[in-house]
Amino acid sequence: MTETIETDALIVGAGPAGLFAVFELGLLDIRAHVIDILPRAGGQCSELYPEKPIYDIPGHPLVTGQGLTDNLLEQIKPFNPTFHFNEMVETLTPTGTPEQPSFEVTTDAGTKFKAKVVFVAAGGGSFQPKKPPIAGIDAYENKSVFYAVRRMEDFRDRDVVIVGGGDSALDWTLNLQPIAKSLTLVHRRDQFRAAPHSVNALQEHIAAKRVDFRLGQVTAIEGADGELSSVTIRGNDNVDTVVSAHRLMPFFGLTMKLGPVADWGLNLHENLVPVDTEKFETNHPGIFAIGDINTYPGKLKLILCGFHEAALAAQKAHRYIFPDKKLLFQYTTSSTNLQKKLGV
Ligand code: FAD
Repeated sequence: MTETIETDALIVGAGPAGLFAVFELGLLDIRAHVIDILPRAGGQCSELYPEKPIYDIPGHPLVTGQGLTDNLLEQIKPFNPTFHFNEMVETLTPTGTPEQPSFEVTTDAGTKFKAKVVFVAAGGGSFQPKKPPIAGIDAYENKSVFYAVRRMEDFRDRDVVIVGGGDSALDWTLNLQPIAKSLTLVHRRDQFRAAPHSVNALQEHIAAKRVDFRLGQVTAIEGADGELSSVTIRGNDNVDTVVSAHRLMPFFGLTMKLGPVADWGLNLHENLVPVDTEKFETNHPGIFAIGDINTYPGKLKLILCGFHEAALAAQKAHRYIFPDKKLLFQYTTSSTNLQKKLGV
């Protein structure tokens, strides 16, 4: 049986709102675990526009999407949050009372949590992989067809086929090539939308025949009981070739879907979670919604709004977690107590 992880606060989503919530909760001595379906922190900033400059973060005349994420990660280091990447929060079940809330949370990887408060910082919803139009692929998903790598060992000594020409396709080609029995990369063009150093490394593998590069697309898969045996690749010359394959990884980009948030018993308005503007709490005591996922009169989907919401929600979370402790308002500039927590 999987062990249940106990935490004060569970944060769903490691976008800018979720990351800054770690900071605001940490100042109030509230420990946090953070879960994201993506393999890294940063939400939309890292996933959709890592190199674009943002001009409206207070105090930062210019910072890129990745730069902001890196700064937030640096800022929350003193609070040592535990991240659970590549996991989607599936269920959220209240187990406490309105005065003393408590929640059981499970992810699609089977991880179980017990939390006193939950911060839903799920942005536009979970990023989910775009699926290729291959008949019958559903029966193989999470057994031999994967859209993300959870355990590299699953690929050791296997014939691996990766489809795509972006960063994810190239990163995993380079990472899995040394342990796979064979690695075939399939892409419709011989140009790649990936970091130049990855493209160079890939070209070297192709030239040395360590990676078998095919121009074309996967049109069919063959196997039984969820285990692949081969895939059919239709070349750009329209010729079909059957290639041995135990593992297939299509990287066709990501879309944002509200996903399981819709099943947690929260009030929804046009796929957003209504909250009050005093504490950014949902209709369920102890569940807060901050950042792009929430809605209230005058809401703006701006990063700076998510930061403000995190600060106010943390104050109310403190009342649930430490009902007997008085909360004193303090500045980081002048409070030695806060500075001690920050290690400065
Ligand atoms: P997100 O950044 O969307 O992060 C939410 C995270 O939650 C995601 O990583 C997602 O995978 C995860 N998640 C969701 N559901 C689950 C689940 N069930 N389980 C696990 N994880 C889950 N804003 C500005 O203020 N200034 C700008 O200049 C600006 N420019 C932008 C440019 C572009 C191209 C785009 C697309 C947006 C821009 N924005 C800008 C908007 C800004 O990026 C968002 O407001 C911000 O990212 C919202 O932060 P968030 O933390 O609420 O959500």
